[in-house]
Amino acid sequence: MEQTIFHKILSREVPAAVMYEDDEVLAFKDIHPKAPTHLLFIPKRFAASIAELTPDTEDLPGMLILKAKAFAASKGIIGYKLTFHVGKEGGQEVPYLHLHFLAQKEI
Ligand code: 5GP
Repeated sequence: MEQTIFHKILSREVPAAVMYEDDEVLAFKDIHPKAPTHLLFIPKRFAASIAELTPDTEDLPGMLILKAKAFAASKGIIGYKLTFHVGKEGGQEVPYLHLHFLAQKEI
């Protein structure tokens, strides 16, 4: 399997501004932010995209959403956008499942 840039961020081979980590997820700042706070939540268990989920990985999107919700609450962020890009035609550049978290409040 090809190692994506997000595999390398997860293994700390490539540096990133990590904002949250636990046993299941890593959240770090997007290198090209489109809002004052723009984070990417990735699962530690690999899936390439929403379109490529299998019975073993179909829990991941919901888990990422709940992690983002808890993170927002912990930072006092009451409004935000959550987005999955699905496939190249859907604007997905990195073939590693990730949830965009965008908020106007800067943290
Ligand atoms: P996609 O378009 O695949 O949904 O989103 C990928 C995101 O990853 C883009 O918003 C892009 O700015 C971000 N990104 C790409 N390479 C890197 C990197 O090396 N470090 C960080 N922190 N973000 C990256």
